[in-house]
Amino acid sequence: MLTPEQVAELRRQRYNATVVWLRKVHPELMRLRVRGDFPKPAHVPGQYSTLGLGYWEPRHPGCQEEILKPGDETKLVRRAYSISCPILDDNGQLLRYDEVDWLEYYIVLVASSDKAQAPGLTPRLFMLREGDRIYMGEKITGHYTLAPVQPHDTVLLLSTGTGEAPHNYMLWELLRRQHPGRILAACCVRYRRDLAYLSVHEELMRRYPNYTFVPLTTREADTVQHKVYIQDLILSGQLEEKLGQPLDPARTHVFLCGNPKMIGVPVKDRETGARSYPQPTGVVEILEKRGFQADQPQAKVQGNIHFEEYW
Ligand SMILES: Cc1cc2nc3c(=O)[nH]c(=O)nc-3n(C[C@H](O)[C@H](O)[C@H](O)COP(=O)(O)OP(=O)(O)OC[C@H]3O[C@@H](n4cnc5c(N)ncnc54)[C@H](O)[C@@H]3O)c2cc1C
Repeated sequence: MLTPEQVAELRRQRYNATVVWLRKVHPELMRLRVRGDFPKPAHVPGQYSTLGLGYWEPRHPGCQEEILKPGDETKLVRRAYSISCPILDDNGQLLRYDEVDWLEYYIVLVASSDKAQAPGLTPRLFMLREGDRIYMGEKITGHYTLAPVQPHDTVLLLSTGTGEAPHNYMLWELLRRQHPGRILAACCVRYRRDLAYLSVHEELMRRYPNYTFVPLTTREADTVQHKVYIQDLILSGQLEEKLGQPLDPARTHVFLCGNPKMIGVPVKDRETGARSYPQPTGVVEILEKRGFQADQPQAKVQGNIHFEEYW
């Protein structure tokens, strides 16, 4: 058990950033803004950084008990987080995100079903308050970016839960550069209250005729009997209907972020090199059967389906 003086000293030594703004969308979902003690690292929309807190920090009440190994209590627990974006400022204008000194994150409290491995960081993040100190990685990195997108391409940003985070930043960038192609974002969550940026998307749809947001909920009373997952949106033809055009692999880039089951990255056999799709069917399988091709980073293949798996 550490003394309050030891905790204060560890915080002083290990933390390099401050929580400048925090909003609990509901008790298990939050948006937070973090300002580093260092200049904002160079980066592009879609990339991720790391956040960390000491194992000495308190855990959210009611979350799984954690069994620490000896020596862990003075270490940091760090995880990757995509950089999100509020998109609009307080006056409803496109935010000048490059001019603010903070980065926004969009985080869900994880309740692991694995009893042996209690979630390390989110139960601690959900105890934070504005003004608290935190660790933030000084490097922002990742290949999940708009680099392959050409001006007239159609861009599909498909996510589950907080997988929306990098898409908000990409969307901000596309709107800022007045992307002339169609942009459609869809996000699948359990309840409507899990869509923290819904009002922003609704406002953006009113302003930008080339932008469509499709919210999908699976547990609301009116949707629970006929759930529409991202896969169903494509298979049923609804996505093309909302887009107002057929899915054309020659001029469309698809970004998939969040739950690995939604994405469905094919597994490559080490000996034969054959790729096989996982079950249940993910978006990659559905789209590859329609002429799209997923990125294969190891084989240095750049396709038109790009993905970021959160676990
Ligand atoms: C590149 C990248 C970017 C990420 N960006 C975000 C982000 O913007 N927002 C965000 O909320 N998370 C994001 N994550 C997930 C994040 O890194 C952590 O894994 C997550 O916050 C859980 O951390 P934890 O320490 O509480 O639990 P851990 O100890 O890391 O994990 C406990 C268990 O929960 C599973 N798990 C992790 N995330 C989820 C989830 N969202 N839903 C259900 N199960 C999950 C893990 O596989 C593990 O089995 C990202 C992950 C990666 C790889």
